[in-house]
Amino acid sequence: MTTSTTNEAQLLDYDTRREQSVASDGNCNELCPVCGHAGASEWLRGPDRFHGRLEKYTLVRCPACSLVWLSHPPKPAEMNLHYTDAYHKLISASGENSPVRWKDRKAALKQWKQSGALLDMGCSSGSFLESLKGEPWKLYGIEMSAEGAKAAEVRSGAKVYVGNILDAPFPRESFDVITCFDVLEHLYEPRKIMARVGEWLKPGGVFYVLVPNVNSAEARAFGSYWHGLELPRHLFHYSPASLKFLAESAGLREVSLETRRNPAVGTSLRYVWDDVFRTVGIHQTPVAYRGEPGFPWRAARKVVRMTALRALLAMAPLVGGGESIHAIFRKEKTVA
Ligand SMILES: [Zn+2]
Repeated sequence: MTTSTTNEAQLLDYDTRREQSVASDGNCNELCPVCGHAGASEWLRGPDRFHGRLEKYTLVRCPACSLVWLSHPPKPAEMNLHYTDAYHKLISASGENSPVRWKDRKAALKQWKQSGALLDMGCSSGSFLESLKGEPWKLYGIEMSAEGAKAAEVRSGAKVYVGNILDAPFPRESFDVITCFDVLEHLYEPRKIMARVGEWLKPGGVFYVLVPNVNSAEARAFGSYWHGLELPRHLFHYSPASLKFLAESAGLREVSLETRRNPAVGTSLRYVWDDVFRTVGIHQTPVAYRGEPGFPWRAARKVVRMTALRALLAMAPLVGGGESIHAIFRKEKTVA
C-alpha cells in the first residue's frame, strides 16, 4: 500500500470551513486544510485588484506547513462572478502565446517520462496538449468549460472530460503522467484532489505541478499587491514546503522542485501604481479592462525594473526564491 490513506477527519469540507471564522484578534480557528494543524493566524487582507473591486478578503497562514489560504472564500456557485470574460481572455492569451513555455515544460517532463498516458488537469483550450501531439503519448484532459474542452479535443486529439476533477471517472492507475499548470491554487479541497492524483497515477508515474510561490521574494515585497494572490480566484497559496507536504499526503515523493522567476511581475507594479494614483483621487481603469499600457506607465515600470526590482530579484534565492514553483513528484512503486 502507499501512504495515500489520508486522515478523513482532517479533510474539512467546504461548508464546514465556511462556518469557521477568523476572530477579531487575527487568530483563526480553522484547521489547516493541508496538514490539519491548528493555530493559523491572519496573514494579510486584500481586494481583487485585477478587477478593481473593493471587497477585502482575508488570507490566513498555517504555522506548521506554511500553507496560506483564503478564509471564507466565495461559495463555488458564486465563483462565476469572479471569473469574468476579461479574466478568461487574459488566461487564454497567455496560454496561446507560450510556445517557449511548453518547450521548457516538455523538456523537464522528458527527464522522467517519455511516453504513456498523460492527463492535463485544467487543460483549458488545450495548448499544452496540442504541443504533445505527434509524440508517443495518449492524451487526456479535464476542463470545466465545455467550450474549452471541445477546443482542446479538436486541436490535440485528446479525450477531455468536462466537469470537476473530483467527478472525473478515470479508473485507478490510469496515467503515467498527470500535469497541473497554474490550476491547483484555484481548487477547493486540495487534499481530496491530491488523493485523486495519487489514485490515478500508475506506480512510478509522475505528477508535474506549477503553482505561484507564496514564499517568493516578490510575494513578500509586494504583500497584497502581489499579482499571484489573484483574490479571490486563488483559494490556496503554496510554498515549496506546503506543496511537498500535500503531495506526500497522497503517497507522492519529490523528485524535482525549483522556483523560477515569472515575467508577469509587471502586474504587481501596476497594482501599486494604480493605488498611488487612487490616493490622489485619480482612478485608473482596472487591469482587467485596460488595453496596452501607455508611455508613462511603461517608463515608470522600466525605472523600477532597473533599480528596486533588480536588487530584489538578486536577493530572491536568499528570501524565498522565484515566483513560481515547478515541481515533479513520483508515485512510489509499492508491493501490493
Ligand atoms: Zn498546515
